[in-house]
Amino acid sequence: MSELYRALGVRPVVNAAGTLTRLGGSRMAPEILEAMAEASRVYVRMEDLQAAAGQVIAAATGAPSGYVTSGAAAGLLLGTAACVAGLDLQKMERLPDTSLPGTKNEVVVHRAHRNSYDHAIRTVGVTLVEVGHFGHPSPGPTRPYELESALNERTAMIFWPVMGDPQRLGVLSLEETARIAHRHGVPVLVDAAAALPPASNLRSFIAAGADLVTFSGGKALGGPQCSGILAGRADLIRSVALQHQDMDVHPGTWTWRHLIAEGSIAGPPLQGIGRVCKVGREEVVGLLTALRLYLQRDHAADIVRWRRLAQRLADGLTGLPAVATTYHDGGARGTASVQVQIDEPALGTSAVEVINALGEGDPIIAVGQGALDKGGFTLGTMSLADADVEVVVSRLRDVLRAK
Ligand SMILES: *Cc1c(COP(=O)(O)O)cnc(C)c1O
Repeated sequence: MSELYRALGVRPVVNAAGTLTRLGGSRMAPEILEAMAEASRVYVRMEDLQAAAGQVIAAATGAPSGYVTSGAAAGLLLGTAACVAGLDLQKMERLPDTSLPGTKNEVVVHRAHRNSYDHAIRTVGVTLVEVGHFGHPSPGPTRPYELESALNERTAMIFWPVMGDPQRLGVLSLEETARIAHRHGVPVLVDAAAALPPASNLRSFIAAGADLVTFSGGKALGGPQCSGILAGRADLIRSVALQHQDMDVHPGTWTWRHLIAEGSIAGPPLQGIGRVCKVGREEVVGLLTALRLYLQRDHAADIVRWRRLAQRLADGLTGLPAVATTYHDGGARGTASVQVQIDEPALGTSAVEVINALGEGDPIIAVGQGALDKGGFTLGTMSLADADVEVVVSRLRDVLRAK
């Protein structure tokens, strides 16, 4: 199976971490790979393919339109570029320079929503304007007037990433954020990169008022790692297309020359800021196939399977001194996991050292590192094959006993 990687001297990973980009995201179903191979054998006009993909994405999300991006981070960049430039050729051409008078160059975000993916937004040349507080003694709540008073004629959009319960974070709900934004004619971009499952989230952010929402194609959707979805308002998606697609075109023969004829735009734009995150027809077709399979999928069966795997992991790790395991059923999302807590002084080693020992083996065992600084780690089930469980358990038992 991993001869390809072996030939390169690269050790394979058994993935008990999750749909992490740095490990390759997800495993594509054979049907997706076949569709991608077929797509690669025939040429198409990318604008035709993206327009067709947009209709499929619209139907799946309830948004008016959609687009296939090279990932959710690209969706953030492209969505921001659309909110800043619209169909204005001058503004498109100057990005990431947003200093032209009249350019909307501010993006409003709750302070508690700042995260390192917002670099993709700042790439467009906008300034993030923070509202709300981390709070004392507990976060927020952000007051509606705080958001409202941050909106002005320079506001390009509001960025609202899915980062957990809004109440716990102290941020305004998406519904309330969108209500306030729309009163001022400001669009809201939602980062829902990792917000699947549940599958209902494909529609829920649009239903809550988002103007644009982006999902990773290579995480729970199980599509190509370098793919993503951007769904939302048709005018914004059109701006995305114009700033993303290859624009080495002649105005007289450009596929979309009707836009010039009807006065929507003076001519085809030049290569835009989004040209750096190009998408191949293989990714578009792969993403659409993954989306179709995801919509048809028996999600309840996935939850049952993940819980069974987590139970097997927990059972396999019983009886180790100075190691405590806790089974989590994954709550409403159903992504079951096992929390492993180490009594570091008693075991004479740290969780960091355990993970590094797992990283030195062959195959490498990858685990979730969210609780590492508290002496614990997580075994996730979303990316595990059934046969992986025994490999993970036996390696972990070896490493935890050897210490
Ligand atoms: C994974 C992730 C991204 C990036 O998604 P890609 O599809 O890898 O570009 C952005 N935001 C959040 C919250 C994520 O979890």
